[in-house]
Amino acid sequence: MTMPLNAKPAVHAAVAPAPSAGWITRRQLTLAAVLLLAASWAFLSDFSVTLLSYVGLCALVAVGLVMLTGVAGMTSFGQAAFVGVGAYATAWACTSPQAAAWLAWLPPAWLPWAGLALGLVLAAAVAWVLGAITLKLAGHYLPLCTIAWGLSLYFLFGNLELLGGHTGITGLPALSIGGAALATPRALGPLIWAVLLLSLWALHNLLDSREGRAIRTLKSGRVMAESMGVDTGRYRIKVFVLAALLGAVSGWLYAHLQRFVNPTPFNLNIGIEYLFMAVVGGAGHLWGAVLGAALITLLKEQLQDWLPRLLGSSGNFEVIVFGLLMLVVLQRYADGLWPRLAQWSGRWLKADPAEHLPAAAAPLAQRTLPPRGQVVLQAHEVTKRFGGLVANNAVNMSVKAGEVHALIGPNGAGKSTFFNMISGVDDPTTGEVRLMGKPMTGKPSREFAALGLSRSFQHVRLLGQRTVLENVAVGAHRRAHRGWVASMLRLDRAEEAAVLAEARRQIERCGLGAHADAPAASLALGQQRIVEIARALASQPAVLLLDEPAAGLRHLEKQALARLLEQLRAEGLGILVVEHDMEFVMNLADRITVLEFGTVIAEGTPAQIQGNQRVLDAYLGGSDDLGAAA
Ligand code: ADP
Ligand code: MG
Repeated sequence: MTMPLNAKPAVHAAVAPAPSAGWITRRQLTLAAVLLLAASWAFLSDFSVTLLSYVGLCALVAVGLVMLTGVAGMTSFGQAAFVGVGAYATAWACTSPQAAAWLAWLPPAWLPWAGLALGLVLAAAVAWVLGAITLKLAGHYLPLCTIAWGLSLYFLFGNLELLGGHTGITGLPALSIGGAALATPRALGPLIWAVLLLSLWALHNLLDSREGRAIRTLKSGRVMAESMGVDTGRYRIKVFVLAALLGAVSGWLYAHLQRFVNPTPFNLNIGIEYLFMAVVGGAGHLWGAVLGAALITLLKEQLQDWLPRLLGSSGNFEVIVFGLLMLVVLQRYADGLWPRLAQWSGRWLKADPAEHLPAAAAPLAQRTLPPRGQVVLQAHEVTKRFGGLVANNAVNMSVKAGEVHALIGPNGAGKSTFFNMISGVDDPTTGEVRLMGKPMTGKPSREFAALGLSRSFQHVRLLGQRTVLENVAVGAHRRAHRGWVASMLRLDRAEEAAVLAEARRQIERCGLGAHADAPAASLALGQQRIVEIARALASQPAVLLLDEPAAGLRHLEKQALARLLEQLRAEGLGILVVEHDMEFVMNLADRITVLEFGTVIAEGTPAQIQGNQRVLDAYLGGSDDLGAAA
């Protein structure tokens, strides 16, 4: 999917804190709120403390959904089932004679921790298996599947004798830490909130890293991300498992807060409620989960109280009100309430100081380029059919290191299709593509990236709301290695500094230094194409494919682009460029291949092509300006 970059103004540009007048930063405000909560905890009523504990528990699940749905674009109605896995795992570990026999060597106070470990392992395993099966499904099938397994797990809890059937399991012990029993909400609540705040911190760190950038591509940029070497299928499963683990931790805490479990809190209704929380709060914002959880928990509480009194009969009226509320909120605030709150508070908050990254560590992985003149990319009899349409008809072509090869032809000739064939985005119907001498039939585009091919897209594929810098940094994905845990714990900073420095270098090289920190969607379309080139260069490619890079550029910008490509050629890159501007092509290319109706009609030097009668004929019928350039 391509993003309609121009259609929509950059939302985040509006949300980003203005250079601003306030006296307190967002971070300081957060810290102050946390300290206030901690200081007032002992003085709050039992009722408030209980309510806040539930808000914390719900927020923990909702923040997993923010990652899954808001950030990574996968909707799940079944999250309550993972909460159930966490709750039932610890209930079983703490109360069943079977578990007692197996865990006899463990001091009794440790049983809940064994329960936590069991819950996490089970939730991860279930999520991994479900994810591997269902995440491949596109469109509406994924949400439908989450409903299906949400229901199945719920009925499993209710029907397993081992788990107490529909009555559930009673007699869970309180958690104890260092000999202190956390038997009441007042005692357990601080642990719940500590876990929540730690999770928020870790997830914030994760999103602000190499791995986070890869996760952000999952929603709308998967084709692009694969072309930059990101294994998006794997990332999707990992986010899914992460959300399940957060649910399981919430379930574990919940079980020890309630001290009993039954299937009711883990049914589909509640799964939908968790999704409400994430979406109403602000599906793409971590703190939106806390806001959504607080709003919905408090509202539910109030409505359950008031509605029956108001209507004079009992029933689950709050569900109806919820439904209506959801409609109104989503109608008016499609991105949830958090962005609005952030925008409003941005007026009186000071901007957080920019993070100081440490000095960049060892430079990023470098590729040794193949010797000049060596064939780096070869297409042999590549044919692509779309039903009856032959978009590419037995196309032969090669690109050598240290040359610029241009692919030209009228609109609809099959140039972009050919690009997809030779970059692994799509598979040829017949024929073979070799990259660095290796046959690539059936390989995904990330394996092309691994061998040193990088590309831009005719219809730009940028994350419009992220900065130019972040977009370009995605290109360097494969050159760095720090994983999720390192990112969450901020152990990736030296490598991150190196990645960002490299991204900035490529942005400056492409002449967009002044725009590095602007949202990509705020740039003109021509400049967005240049961002795509910078992103491709950040991967340090040996082969560079550019699909209409000069479209939408002004004359001087085109000249700058031509100079950049000349420089890259001099460095030894093999470059294949599709371009309609004949002056640009004729001055730059070493060789030209001409496509018409999917078939190669000529190949040669610019001089040969300009003198080729068949090419002239093809172009006279079209709207291009070969004649003028010749
Ligand atoms: P170019 O880039 O040279 O303008 P394209 O490669 O985009 O041409 O398109 C070549 C032909 O293939 C066009 O007729 C186009 O409509 C068709 N085509 C491209 N992609 C698809 C697709 N996914 N399904 C069906 N037809 C397609
Ligand atoms: Mg095209």
